Amino acid sequence: MPKRSWVRVAGALALLAAVAACGGPPHGPAAPPAPTGPSGSPAGTTAAAAPPADPAAVWAKWGLQPLPAAPAAPADKPVKLSADGEVPVFSEVPTHDRVVFITVDDGAEKDPRFVEMMTDLRVPFSMFLTRDIVRGDYGYFKPLQALGNHIHNHSTDHPAMSTVSPERQHAEVCDAQAALTEQYGTAPLLFRPPYGDGAHSDGLRTAVRACGPRAVVLWRESMQIHNMQYQAADKKLRPGDIILAHFRGPKDLKGESMTKMFGELLSRIREQGFAVARLEDYIDAG
Ligand SMILES: [Zn+2]
Repeated sequence: MPKRSWVRVAGALALLAAVAACGGPPHGPAAPPAPTGPSGSPAGTTAAAAPPADPAAVWAKWGLQPLPAAPAAPADKPVKLSADGEVPVFSEVPTHDRVVFITVDDGAEKDPRFVEMMTDLRVPFSMFLTRDIVRGDYGYFKPLQALGNHIHNHSTDHPAMSTVSPERQHAEVCDAQAALTEQYGTAPLLFRPPYGDGAHSDGLRTAVRACGPRAVVLWRESMQIHNMQYQAADKKLRPGDIILAHFRGPKDLKGESMTKMFGELLSRIREQGFAVARLEDYIDAG
């Protein structure tokens, strides 16, 4: 089957999955204040702390085994972007490094235990945030950003972009870009259309170019609760694959927590012998 068809199938599956995560009102109530973590320090205030001295112990704390160490970031970045060139669409990074990249979307679940987990494990990931899903609590994502994780643009209120006018598409990208830039102090480099819909359309790429992001990023695998959906028929990760996950909690994970889901994701990656690298380390922003 041609790759585009796989992308379409995956997009449809992602749509089904994402509806569950994003089906609520976009202007829902803000998450409650982050409770104090078991270590006694308020969640979100430990981001600047030094990495843990005993990595194996912190992985064991979460019931996990350490991932292989990622290789050094490549000096010659395989993805090259520019402000005035074409807006590429990509689902994987061309590399022979045995690494994959994790992306986490939307921002609905704001579990303080996930901040604690990432502060412990220091696994790199990229966030694609939807303005109206996160604006009740922009602050939740700041300690995750402070760990070195980048924030990217995932629209203002999560429409299927091909179903809305060019003017609305422009506003979806530009308004989210402005809000995320103001909140997080840096302009998102990448855009991901909700459900992957309309990614290859001229209208969307025109809007993306006008609003600031320099590429449209899709995915090869989509994390569910215990395993991934693969676009590849052999259901195996390949070097450079981009994995989609979501900020989701028990309501959307059949009772499982965000940290349980994320631990399962890391286990599936480790079982296949991959490290997790930072996506932005493989991109020359131009
Ligand atoms: Zn989404």
